[in-house]
Amino acid sequence: MQVKVLGSSGSEVPGHNSPAFLIEDFLLLDAGTVSLCLNTEAQWNISHIFITHAHLDHIKAIPFLVDNMVSSAKPSQVTIFSGRDVIADLKRNIFNNRIWPDFTVIPDAQNPVMRYQEISTRGCLDIRGFKIRASRVNHSVPAYGYIVENALSHCLVYTGDTGPTERIWKRMKGRRIKGLIVEVSFPDEMRDLALASGHLTPALLRDEIRKMPVLPETIYITHLKPHYKVTIQDQLDRIPGVSIELLQDGMVLTI
Ligand SMILES: [Zn+2]
Ligand SMILES: [Zn+2]
Repeated sequence: MQVKVLGSSGSEVPGHNSPAFLIEDFLLLDAGTVSLCLNTEAQWNISHIFITHAHLDHIKAIPFLVDNMVSSAKPSQVTIFSGRDVIADLKRNIFNNRIWPDFTVIPDAQNPVMRYQEISTRGCLDIRGFKIRASRVNHSVPAYGYIVENALSHCLVYTGDTGPTERIWKRMKGRRIKGLIVEVSFPDEMRDLALASGHLTPALLRDEIRKMPVLPETIYITHLKPHYKVTIQDQLDRIPGVSIELLQDGMVLTI
């Protein structure tokens, strides 16, 4: 599978976008950045968005995307997938006809431009040849990571924002993990803040790697604070035995 990194930053400054990963042109993991880096044709092709959690840096492109879709030259429709608690936050706090219109009834309720679909952490969704499994992770709000498996049984694991966690690592067992996109937001010196806010540092990631039943072929780092990039890179370089790569916006991964 091809994964285009639309954004992979833990905060926004010029050249650093909020997290969004586009798989094969139609499936998006998180939606921090879409409309500023894809032309309208490419936006209209997005039909499935899996949201890890409702923090603004992971959802803020959805309002502009669906607004563009309503006025698109070709019929477009997108479904937002996440846990019941995350979907409830989107309904209550964003698409509430105050902050932004309720696009599940636009242009009309029978054929809306946007739908929600609540997901379970037990099952597996089949979407155009991909199997997608959700797993709880440990953040300051309800949050889910995703395992995306293609027809060749190659898996991409995306944690979204998380502190030290367990379940998603266990679900990697027996699978071929070609890539893991995991967050490292802060340098080791900010361990207390990382733990309090549900994030990882390089040393905390090293502890997480020890919990994994299988090692990913490559570990891709997302969500770091841009001003700590050099320090975080230096600290990640000291983790032995794994291939670790910092993501950059615009990269295309082949999983
Ligand atoms: Zn968050
Ligand atoms: Zn975040």
